[in-house]
Amino acid sequence: MNKRGLQYFTLSEIEPRVWFMLTGCNFRCKGCFRPARDGGGTLLTAEETLERMEKACLNYYGKVPSEAMITGGEPTLDRAYLLSLVKGLKEKGFEKIVLMTNGYELGVDENYVHELEEAGLTEAHVDLKAFSEDIHRWYTGKSNKPVLRAIEKLNASGIELLVQTIYMPGIVDDAEIEKIAMSFASLNKNIKYRINPFVPVFAYEKVTKRPTLEEMERAYEIALKYLPNAIISRSCYREYPTPPPQKTWITVYPDLTVKRRGMKDQAEDRLSWLNHVRPRESVMEDWKKEEWDFKLRHSLVGISELGEEVKEEKGSEPVKVKFPLALHELTKTRETELDLDGSTTIREVLERLAEKYGEEFRERLIDGGEIKRSFNVYLNGMNIKNLQGIKTEVEGNAEIVILSWVSGG
Ligand code: SF4
Repeated sequence: MNKRGLQYFTLSEIEPRVWFMLTGCNFRCKGCFRPARDGGGTLLTAEETLERMEKACLNYYGKVPSEAMITGGEPTLDRAYLLSLVKGLKEKGFEKIVLMTNGYELGVDENYVHELEEAGLTEAHVDLKAFSEDIHRWYTGKSNKPVLRAIEKLNASGIELLVQTIYMPGIVDDAEIEKIAMSFASLNKNIKYRINPFVPVFAYEKVTKRPTLEEMERAYEIALKYLPNAIISRSCYREYPTPPPQKTWITVYPDLTVKRRGMKDQAEDRLSWLNHVRPRESVMEDWKKEEWDFKLRHSLVGISELGEEVKEEKGSEPVKVKFPLALHELTKTRETELDLDGSTTIREVLERLAEKYGEEFRERLIDGGEIKRSFNVYLNGMNIKNLQGIKTEVEGNAEIVILSWVSGG
């Protein structure tokens, strides 16, 4: 039986969802920020991993969740292990099984994607580090040809695909993003493509600086010319575009000890990992500057104008609503304003929008009185799922952003 190193499971406190953090990686990305790439953890077979995951979830949630995210390190390194893991998850009733990968092995082995689909994989998030072979080799140590092949294979499969690229000023910037977007447009213009910013603070090598808001927005506009489903984002900000009052999660180690951890614990892990690369003090210094970067977080999910002064004024000021591209054909605009008479709720705002944009708008967005899973609604930067959902109160001067298909790990 093949074994893989398991660093820990992560259980979401927001909704039942489990992450598998597998160790080891076939790339050596210069800007890697994942200690798991260097191996370690507890060696387990897929069956042992599933057994421990089940115990961890039953202890914490009282049930096995329906969503699993398999990440690392690089989860595809051992085909037999991964196939058994995915198959086992499916047998246990998981409905959404997501693989986060650099794609390399999926492109090397012609049957891998097909076998994963057969096993029950529902979604794959592939990182395409660079389009130009020389940049890719320099940054990761490997060719990008297998990665591009994996993207082609996934695109042709029934597995939902999201491709992501990290914007690195001066390395992978506008020119590379344009090449990627053009190449994907000829493959499938509806491909889901996300651009994330390079974050140097915990990067193994600080190969460049963090992109500015303007650079990110420009990259987004470039990608959008070719790919209507392009988005700028950063996965860990997905559920919290602004920092929540408390951001913690549950870590369950392979011996089933449990710890509620937060950003500080994660930073500690990364600090010890980077210990031999650069002095702790310099990383700490950088981290303080990064910690609560409101402006950038807003911009990353397309929320740019929420200012402190806006929060102060409430009441009868209009509410601004921004739409995702998926709704533009109905709204014919990227954003609108609604005049409110005192405070109201998200439900009421959506009703008003449906009156304005027609039944099809309602059908596209709402199902059984709830917002469809393929959309997320943010009120002043907070996902309404983390507030009172569709019953969340809205006051004048608020900003509501509707995003489509923002999913994944
Ligand atoms: S593929 Fe991911 S885990 Fe592996 S080296 Fe690159 S960033 Fe790190």
